[in-house]
Amino acid sequence: MTSLPKAFVVGHPIAHSRSPLIHGHWLAAHGLPGRYERVDVAPEAFPAFLRDFPERGFVGGNVTIPHKEAAFRGAALLTPRAERIGAVNTLSLDAAGRLHGDNTDAPGFLAHLDASLGADWPRTTGTDAGRAVLVLGAGGAARAILVGLLERGLPHLRVANRTAARAEALRALDPARIEAVAWAHLPALTGGTGLLVNTTSLGMAGAGALDLDLSGLPPEAAVADIVYVPLETPLLAAARARGLRAVDGLGMLLHQAVPGFARWFGVTPHVTPELRALVVADLEGRR
Ligand code: NAP
Repeated sequence: MTSLPKAFVVGHPIAHSRSPLIHGHWLAAHGLPGRYERVDVAPEAFPAFLRDFPERGFVGGNVTIPHKEAAFRGAALLTPRAERIGAVNTLSLDAAGRLHGDNTDAPGFLAHLDASLGADWPRTTGTDAGRAVLVLGAGGAARAILVGLLERGLPHLRVANRTAARAEALRALDPARIEAVAWAHLPALTGGTGLLVNTTSLGMAGAGALDLDLSGLPPEAAVADIVYVPLETPLLAAARARGLRAVDGLGMLLHQAVPGFARWFGVTPHVTPELRALVVADLEGRR
């Protein structure tokens, strides 16, 4: 094994990943002798990759589409959060060389929400009592975000999804606090919503539009979108036009990277305006 710590981001495809830019920036900023590389692995080759990466000199890495569930199944040890989410996006090796799996999407989402709205956002949005957090979508990201919101103690979560059965299935995370609601009922539910979170791919460049009338949201409500291409999605633009607080998806991507970097390279990095500007420039094709 090489003495230079090396981490990966593994996915299929992987060329679009901004993770090398983020981790490369932190390595340079901290003057650390490490590397972070993209690795394209097809699904059928992923179990072998999990077995062999230490021999290739990697100390761990990030896992993205389509491997997050396979990484969950392949990890020898899981954090309680990864266990609950059923997906792993951060891999490392423990002192005994066992494969350790974590999911940092949930803390990444919440860290960005705290940084954008202030950590007392449950109070300022009214979601600590009375108003609901309304989550649109029921895929992997929705599941991670719901787990994070449950851990944070939010009392009332609503989920709406195009495929209603998937929203209904997410209720099993905590049936007392999660309500599945019909997509068609969304307009009637905005008035009781303190935080609206889009976790669908709607609004993403090349995907369909998320057509939702925000006029019923209370003035204290906030709107978060985890789509970050474009950075200002039509949903966020509509929220800002109404004078509501809007939280973009890029911060989640930046914050979810922190715990992995700390494990692989031994330094806890910070999400700075400089890092954000670097990734924004990349997204806008200015680099
Ligand atoms: P996923 O598991 O494939 O789930 C996709 C979700 O979008 C499902 O709820 C799906 O509904 C819904 N959807 C897709 N097309 C739709 C349409 N035409 N109309 C209505 N709903 C539609 O994906 P994921 O991993 O959860 O990711 C979802 C989005 O979040 C992606 O855009 C991804 O890039 C983004 N993301 C961002 C971050 C970040 O760090 N900012 C992290 C993770 C993911 P059905 O169940 O009905 O198919």
